[in-house]
Amino acid sequence: MTAIAVIGLGNMGHHMSVNLTKAGHDVHGYDIVPELCEKAAAKGVGIAESASVAAAGADVVITMLQSGEQVQGLYGGPDGIIAAATPGTAFLDCSTISVDDARAAHRLAQDAGFLSVDAPVSGGVVGAEAGTLTFMVGGTSEAFEVARPYFEVMGKRVVHCGDPGAGQAAKICNNLMLAISMIGVSEGFVLGEKLGLTHQALFDVAANASGQCWALTTNCPVPGPVPSSPANRDYQAGFASQLMLKDLLLSQAAAGSSGVDTELGAHATKIYERLVGTHDPHKDFSDIINDVRERSQE
Ligand code: NAD
Repeated sequence: MTAIAVIGLGNMGHHMSVNLTKAGHDVHGYDIVPELCEKAAAKGVGIAESASVAAAGADVVITMLQSGEQVQGLYGGPDGIIAAATPGTAFLDCSTISVDDARAAHRLAQDAGFLSVDAPVSGGVVGAEAGTLTFMVGGTSEAFEVARPYFEVMGKRVVHCGDPGAGQAAKICNNLMLAISMIGVSEGFVLGEKLGLTHQALFDVAANASGQCWALTTNCPVPGPVPSSPANRDYQAGFASQLMLKDLLLSQAAAGSSGVDTELGAHATKIYERLVGTHDPHKDFSDIINDVRERSQE
């Protein structure tokens, strides 16, 4: 049994803390929103009175926050969780943040003598609840081996991507590919509609031909061919458009600072910006097909 602090009990952190508790660990969670602390407590998660109190008693500190600013704000300073932690504590940040912010968080931990990893996830809220997340991990081999058993409780795949920041790099590169492929699949379906093809006919061809990809065969943007895809439930409870936009903006910041011309990535970012501005930003990003339809002539 390990003493684990989980800071950030939102959509993802709630389920992650519950799964660690179910696995027999001594978990103390904390969120600035009291209702979220109560919700986790109702599932058996211990609650600390502050993030630094949670960190002070922990062998492992997991953060699951919205932004790099929040992570650095929580890690740093005299009231931060690094100042509160005792020797030997490992810091596992699972938030999706920029590569630069992740490296800055690593430096704060390492300068104080702690092991740390950046470990963003994919799999969404459904994967967090089922304990089937994929963890993309950046950090030293020593830090990775310390963190791995906890990720194996919360996920089904754990990949050591490389040095500090490499987990965030893998996450934004993957989601850059995904964002573009979902637009491509959506444009294909809308063009197919105009040309008189049924969704099923196009699916049966493309899913077994060179158009095959996850955006088509798992997260199909039209209802019918893949019954579990969010399109069958009005695009609810999937990977929110606003989170896809967040990841695209992170990819564009990284492309800018590393001098890479991601022309389609830049265009995809504009398209998802429009989607988030005109549609429900909480709906699954495959809702982009409705943006394509709205831009097409009657
Ligand atoms: P969320 O907004 O539901 O949860 C984040 C929580 O952090 C909030 O409850 C907030 O109150 C809390 N928080 C912020 N500052 C805090 C502080 N100083 N101390 C304590 N708590 C603090 O977000 P989420 O959907 O759980 O996502 C968390 C991270 O995981 C994000 O970086 C997101 O991009 C990433 N992610 C989310 C999904 C998803 O499907 N939701 C999928 C993959 C990755």
